[in-house]
Amino acid sequence: VVDLAHVVNAPDAVKRNLRDRNFPFPADQVDHLRAMHLDAARLGKDLQRARERRNAVSSAPTGGDPDARRREAGEVKKLVKDLEPRLSALTKAVQHLALQLPNTSHPDVPVGDETRARLVKTLGPPLPSSPAATEPERDHLALSSPANLAWTDFASSSLTTGSSWPLLLNEAALVELALTNYAMSVALKHGFTPALTPDVVRSDVAERCGFRPRDGDAQQTYFLSDGDTGAASPSSSSSSSSTLCLAGTAEVPLVAMSAAQTFRAADLPLKHVALGRAFRAEAGARGADSRGLYRVHQFSKVEMVVVCAEDDSDALLEELRAIQEEILSGLGLSLRVLDMPTQELGASAHRKYDIEAWMPGRGKWGELSSASNCTDYQSRRLGIRYRPSASPSPSSSSPPSSPSSSPHHPPSPSKLAYAHTLNGTAAAIPRLIVALLENGAVLDDARKPVRVRLPAVLRPFWLGREGGSDAR
Ligand code: AMP
Repeated sequence: VVDLAHVVNAPDAVKRNLRDRNFPFPADQVDHLRAMHLDAARLGKDLQRARERRNAVSSAPTGGDPDARRREAGEVKKLVKDLEPRLSALTKAVQHLALQLPNTSHPDVPVGDETRARLVKTLGPPLPSSPAATEPERDHLALSSPANLAWTDFASSSLTTGSSWPLLLNEAALVELALTNYAMSVALKHGFTPALTPDVVRSDVAERCGFRPRDGDAQQTYFLSDGDTGAASPSSSSSSSSTLCLAGTAEVPLVAMSAAQTFRAADLPLKHVALGRAFRAEAGARGADSRGLYRVHQFSKVEMVVVCAEDDSDALLEELRAIQEEILSGLGLSLRVLDMPTQELGASAHRKYDIEAWMPGRGKWGELSSASNCTDYQSRRLGIRYRPSASPSPSSSSPPSSPSSSPHHPPSPSKLAYAHTLNGTAAAIPRLIVALLENGAVLDDARKPVRVRLPAVLRPFWLGREGGSDAR
């Protein structure tokens, strides 16, 4: 599944990519992977020769010494029987290790950590040249507390579930519904098909999308059970067993919808937008960036996913970003768009844009959305292919004879190619509530919040009574 040409031909470039991304895949494992892959290729040739000999012996005309013929037939049969399981085990080990490699990075992506992010543009109301560092009275946690606007009740939800499992109350609940429908409506206007996806997914499917449910000691995923799901693996080349886990994002079920399918190029791109609950253990998250609604364990998220032909993914990343800019600009926030550096790309992204909003209570920019081009990383791991020329409509397919492996050469019409996949946040609700609260709260003379000015774009989706927060 995973293309190992790069590992064989340019192991140093693979190691540089791991370093650039600060990715937890030891460099010596690249050499190990390369050696195992070359061994498997040699073993494959040995097996092919042994099978040819076996066929030649069994179809040779009778005559000569029958004992010698029987001996040779027995030997060659034993050789085939010996080589087959060795090759199968080695191929599995190669794929298992190769699955853990990250995607390559786009050459224009800045190298380094988050401080190297490149500012693409700013949008919305400009900030004063030096915005006040922090406006404590605009802190979303204080504004939303039961003593003020009563938008959240963390005390009771921490008794029910635990800390960082928010309970949204009053207008906050209505803001979530309005934001969800507003974001959906923009995506639908741009031709996305609506979906409601399961919030529970197989852990091996999440892994094939680039999420590592068990990332060393820091478990980022909530597992439902340790039993095998018993379901068929989505990739034709794998028979790995799996456990069920809570989805960290609707990207997983949306991408997996296309697993093990071959599409006609004319039927691409596929564009879906789904509302899902995202569940994140957020192991290791601490400090100011995990206060209140900013980083929680469960949140509603509207997510867009695109499956397309390889030549179209760069342009579609820009399209996803433009849709995000439209959604977020409509909310009247001060925004900045960032081209994210290598260490922020995770396993699957080849390139990623984040959009951040100014949050005065935090006195900082805060990430609201991200859009990623995952190129063929997920499709190789899930078997999502397309046929460049006209062919029958999407269907479950048997493995192709030789899928195109190079992202840089257009696939020949006679060959199957791996599709490219992209994902983008249409609305991640809690952070949007933070931004709307901190920017839109109307304070009285005593600097206490009296109401929140909400964006006019939410009006068509507002279920509340008159007299609540006024729309700006
Ligand atoms: P991601 O799917 O990780 O790219 O996240 C998409 C968006 O969800 C981010 O840009 C954040 O706005 C938001 N987000 C991510 N993690 C959390 C969390 N633990 N709590 C609240 N919002 C989050």
